[in-house]
Amino acid sequence: MTRDVAGPPTLHSTDDMQRLQEQLALTLNEHSTMVSALSISNEELLASNEELRATTEELETNKEELQSVNEELRTVNDQLSERIGEISAANDDLGNLMTATAIATLFLDRSLRVKRYTPHAQTLFNLIPADEGRPLAHISHQLDYADVRADAAAVLANGQALEREIGSHAGQYYLARLAPYRTGNDQIDGVVLTFVDISERKHAEEELARAYTAEQAARIAAEKALQTRDQFLSIASHELRTPMTALVGYAQLLQKALLRGSGDLTKMIERVVRQTKRLDALIDQLLDVSRLQRGQFVIERNTIDIAALGAQVVADFRDTLPRDAAAAVTVVGPAAPLLVTGDAARLEQVLYNLLSNAVKYSPLGKMIQVQMTQTATEAVVEVVDQGIGIPTSSQNQLFAPFFRAPNVGTQASGFGVGLYIVREIVERHGGRIDVESTEGVGSTFRVHLPLLEPTACIVVEG
Ligand code: ADP
Repeated sequence: MTRDVAGPPTLHSTDDMQRLQEQLALTLNEHSTMVSALSISNEELLASNEELRATTEELETNKEELQSVNEELRTVNDQLSERIGEISAANDDLGNLMTATAIATLFLDRSLRVKRYTPHAQTLFNLIPADEGRPLAHISHQLDYADVRADAAAVLANGQALEREIGSHAGQYYLARLAPYRTGNDQIDGVVLTFVDISERKHAEEELARAYTAEQAARIAAEKALQTRDQFLSIASHELRTPMTALVGYAQLLQKALLRGSGDLTKMIERVVRQTKRLDALIDQLLDVSRLQRGQFVIERNTIDIAALGAQVVADFRDTLPRDAAAAVTVVGPAAPLLVTGDAARLEQVLYNLLSNAVKYSPLGKMIQVQMTQTATEAVVEVVDQGIGIPTSSQNQLFAPFFRAPNVGTQASGFGVGLYIVREIVERHGGRIDVESTEGVGSTFRVHLPLLEPTACIVVEG
């Protein structure tokens, strides 16, 4: 506080003195108050100063701490930039892998919606960018894999990968592997589908299987051929031996009779001729089989009236039979010709064979009938007998070479090739043969031949 002091006062009296003293004391008092106030202010200033210094020191410490935090942050920042660099390189690698890989790969999320896919998957699943986020069930694909959605759902549900071999509409094969998509903390967050092209392996396997089947078939055929050959040798030697033995016997008897000058020579010669004819017929059959199997069986093509031919064959056949047996063989045919194209001698052979079998496999005197009819397109020749019949189980093998049904017994001789030759001849005429038979009741063999157009040129061969 400031006070104006107007020069030293003038002392006039005791009172003045006293007043002056009082004034002085007052002034002193004021001064002392001021001094103490000043001293308090000074202390305060000193305290403030002290506080300021402490604050400054604190700030100094904070600044240092901040500097070190800043330093740390810079280091962390550098590390983060480095990590970002690495992640972006890894991302590039992944992108390139996705583009370059030939393995079609499809990533699905937890709702089985398309998340990401490789170019090959794009082709297989007909994907376009707009398909991202679409459910797998809505995506058409080129795979024969109707269960793809169900499989993906199963993988998602049970966390187990599964594999399937799948074909495609384009004839390719894929090994489909469906695996759970696991996050870093081992949560299942979708499904990854990969399709590895295994067409080459599959085709090789198929080729192998085909080769194996062919080899098996060839082996079975070779075994069958061996079996047929053995069967043939045994049947042929037996069948040829019978007339041969008879021939030798009759020839010796004839020789003796000639030496003695007595005996029924005519009867003996008749027997020799019969056995020779039998041998001749057997050898003809064998030659036919051989020609058929070597592709040298020739069929002539003439226009033939099969009705006339049938009647003629039956008549000739009856001539070879004893009177009783001949009476049992009858023929029924149309008055009008039944024209077919074919080889008269071979068709004669067909009828002759069927008739011989009917006689051979029927008890003596049982009726045998040849019936000739026609349908709109076919001439039909039936040979019906009341003989031993054919067991049902044998009927589908009758036309195989060297097959003989088990019920033929030892009396009826034969190679088991007659029906084989008959069927070959009929089929080479564009026709077919079938049989209806009941064991113990009789058999009907039915030959169907295509009829000639009525306008066709007619040349009847004898
Ligand atoms: P083969 O008469 O020389 O044995 P086939 O080939 O002519 O040979 O006949 C094959 C088999 O068919 C005969 O062995 C016989 O079992 C059966 N078979 C053929 N025709 C008749 C028929 N009319 N009645 C009964 N069985 C027959």
